[in-house]
Amino acid sequence: MGLRIDKMLANMGYGTRKEVKKLLKSGVVKIDGVVVKDPKTQVNPTEQVVTVRGKEVEYKEFIYLMMNKPPGVVSATEDVVEETVVDLLEEEDRVFSPFPVGRLDKDTEGLLLLTNDGQLAHQLLSPKKHVPKTYFAVIEGEVTEEDVAAFRHGVVLDDGYETKPAELVVLKSGLRSDVEVTITEGKFHQVKRMFRAIGKRVIYLKRIQMGPLVLDPSLDLGEYRELTDEEVEMLK
Ligand code: URA
Repeated sequence: MGLRIDKMLANMGYGTRKEVKKLLKSGVVKIDGVVVKDPKTQVNPTEQVVTVRGKEVEYKEFIYLMMNKPPGVVSATEDVVEETVVDLLEEEDRVFSPFPVGRLDKDTEGLLLLTNDGQLAHQLLSPKKHVPKTYFAVIEGEVTEEDVAAFRHGVVLDDGYETKPAELVVLKSGLRSDVEVTITEGKFHQVKRMFRAIGKRVIYLKRIQMGPLVLDPSLDLGEYRELTDEEVEMLK
């Protein structure tokens, strides 16, 4: 695979195309030890070694980020009024043009994967794949065994859609109940609407798992990290 040296360096965060052009002109960029100045020079980043001021440029095509989404930001790449999850990324990660894989509501927290790997995103979101997603939720009022059975059977949402079986685990039942719910679909506001269908209200919602990917407990709200190679492999 070949691409222009200026595009590669711009993609890797070495500045805009214009800035990269200047960098090249100054003679600090080498391909396999040879100075290159022409921004149109083709490079094969998987086979050739590119250095800038003697430091090797590690090229990667895809980026995979796990974020602990905070409340108050929208799961989109851009929005004219709202702050987006992409706004929370460092410039060096934004150059890869990552987008969120699926959506969490503005007030929902937790595990959000961001990537520029369209194929992987498609796989994870495909309704045919039934990728399970697990949420921790706080529910107003008691959650009963009947509720667990209703979720296991599937509930009818406000638009008449009957959900696929979902697993509901009651961690603590009381005036406010703690639960974990696992769904294999991704309907709009699904968890909140499922509880509404059984006459209950979600007062806190956080995604903790998506397929094999578990939210890293060391990530504070708004923090993110790259997936490990093992995590990426697990998802494929
Ligand atoms: N279900 C919801 O209701 N909201 C989310 O953000 C995710 C799942």
